[in-house]
Amino acid sequence: MQKPIVGIVLPCYNEELVLKETSSQINNILEDLIYRGIISHDSFAAFVDDGSKDNTWLLIEESNVLYKTSRGLKLAANVGHQNALLAGLLTYKDEADALVSIDADLQDDISVIEEMILKFLSGVDVVYGVRKERVTDTSFKRNTALLFYNLMKKMKVNIIHNHADYRLCSKRVLNALSDFGEVNLFLRGIIPSIGFHKEVVYYNRLERFAGESKYPFKKMAAFAWNGITSFSNYPLKLVTIIGFVIFFLCLIMSGYAVFALFTGNLVPGWLSTVLPMYFLGGIQLFCFGIIGEYIGKIYLEVKKRPRYFIDKRID
Ligand code: UDP
Ligand code: MG
Repeated sequence: MQKPIVGIVLPCYNEELVLKETSSQINNILEDLIYRGIISHDSFAAFVDDGSKDNTWLLIEESNVLYKTSRGLKLAANVGHQNALLAGLLTYKDEADALVSIDADLQDDISVIEEMILKFLSGVDVVYGVRKERVTDTSFKRNTALLFYNLMKKMKVNIIHNHADYRLCSKRVLNALSDFGEVNLFLRGIIPSIGFHKEVVYYNRLERFAGESKYPFKKMAAFAWNGITSFSNYPLKLVTIIGFVIFFLCLIMSGYAVFALFTGNLVPGWLSTVLPMYFLGGIQLFCFGIIGEYIGKIYLEVKKRPRYFIDKRID
């Protein structure tokens, strides 16, 4: 096989504090891999500016001047991590044999990129970067993440445990990805569903090099919820189950009322009238809420709005 062209795609949102360091480390790794003859000298790092409000784009331009391998893609507005990543992957998929996606904050150990590429060279289509341990995350983030992965598994969604969006995809996989038109993007669910030969590399998750997380709890919870409702109809089934259980309980209560009627024990009670009413009202609202979530999703999907716009690119 000829030396492959490998692109590294990094979504960046307000990352001026880390970008210089990231660019230097990533481009150095690329230059080293090129020098050692493992990848083609057309390989590159593409920094995707997701509508940052700080000097991120300026630094991307600087990096482009500084390193031969450095490129930049500026999106017209902030579209979120998943869409920014998609923009990068779809823009560069035809210019590379494989693309590696990685966060810009150096939390994922970039030294395993070489391992990913070697696996790709041996014929693997998707290489997932998986965190060995999460010592640098807070115990809260660790536990909520664990809960999320277990929940997804219970709902039969095929995702890789402890894998964030650090992965290598071959051109075949990226072409398949471009066929997915969904607006509610959850790449961690989509990529495994594509299939092909996959393998895993392990790494230790490091501290953020600088700056702060752009995923506060609220955004993280929204992301998890999106992941569940985009890939599983289980919550809708849950609604049916809850309805059934409530129906059964009501049946028992009616039986008891008839029994009380015949034994002459029936006190015209306020509680027994009002309590089930409140209870059922609550359950109904809950169920409507879940169904509403899906209808909201359908609404967004049928509009088929474009997921990102490209402002400019530098090569
Ligand atoms: N990011 C982005 N757009 C956003 C939010 C985040 O492109 O609207 C990028 C961010 O610059 C980083 C990656 O997505 O490269 C992951 O974000 P972050 O490190 O803040 O998330 P965490 O690692 O804390 O989950
Ligand atoms: Mg991070």
